[in-house]
Amino acid sequence: MLPNDLDRYSRQIRFSGLREEGQRRLSQSKAVLCGCGALGTVIANGLARAGVGHLRIIDRDLVELSNLQRQILFDESDANRSVPKAEAAATKLQAVNSQITIEPVIADLHARNIDELLFDADVILDGTDNFETRFLINDYSHRSLKPWIYGGAVGSTGQSMTIIPGRTPCLRCVIESPPPPGAMPTCETSGILSSASTIIGAIEVAEAIKILSGQLDVVSKGLLVVDVWSGRMNRINLDGLRQKCECLTCVKGEFPWLEGSRGSQTTSLCGRNAVQVIPAGDVSMDWNAVQSRLAQDYALQKTPFLFRVTIDGYELSVFKDGRAIIRGTSDVAIARSVYARYLGG
Ligand SMILES: [Zn+2]
Repeated sequence: MLPNDLDRYSRQIRFSGLREEGQRRLSQSKAVLCGCGALGTVIANGLARAGVGHLRIIDRDLVELSNLQRQILFDESDANRSVPKAEAAATKLQAVNSQITIEPVIADLHARNIDELLFDADVILDGTDNFETRFLINDYSHRSLKPWIYGGAVGSTGQSMTIIPGRTPCLRCVIESPPPPGAMPTCETSGILSSASTIIGAIEVAEAIKILSGQLDVVSKGLLVVDVWSGRMNRINLDGLRQKCECLTCVKGEFPWLEGSRGSQTTSLCGRNAVQVIPAGDVSMDWNAVQSRLAQDYALQKTPFLFRVTIDGYELSVFKDGRAIIRGTSDVAIARSVYARYLGG
């Protein structure tokens, strides 16, 4: 007989890879999910239902109608109300499992806040849509000796790799630096099938469960590459790659994304005609003053998390930390200029 608090996990506990001991370890562990879109919703769903004791969900974005095709935790009401994804996911999953702690964080992950958001993670999961953030996570993982699970999906394909500092190759062993803008297919240029993101998200969940239940010896090795359209699934052997490539991160201990010498402050957002602008350094913008000023000339929509205003065909969503998502352009320079013109900085 299982104790009452474990009864809901009876089918998972029966699985020989976990048993009661593995389940108890899951309930005492903390997972941090970076990004809650196509991959992230599948990951958060899997971890919450599996009974991971503490789940922190970090996401900077708002739910939109075009997300619903693949982002499994959101519905039309979330999109109509522009609810932040982290918040919507936490609400849904807390109703699924009230035994665990779910902590939504509405923020953009960057070098200045990564320590505060990831310091207590037992595992870090990749639900991001860009390589810049992944290289930052890769740096952080190796400086803090925390495992992380890389995942990405576009079109009908997906990739995943489990990275244990000191034991496995890292992201930089496989890709020397983030591909330049326009060099890689994105959700915007190539679209995405939900099957691709779902399978990669599910793989990330299984890898996290192995790590959180203390079974580092059974994590999958190498780089998994899946194509749901052709039906192919390959695992690329990366044994010995660390030593061979003399990796700057995992062999030589250089962390340029973490130290801020790499990485920009503007991001063109995947799948949308929009750019995110993050003010450099400490934000000095007075959020209320900016709202009052703009409200004299324009109609503002306000929520507890942001205000939104449309000016000259650009829609600005402005968050309390000074971050803005500027819709109506994918040109970073134009977005910077719109930001400077209407928000200062
Ligand atoms: Zn490496």
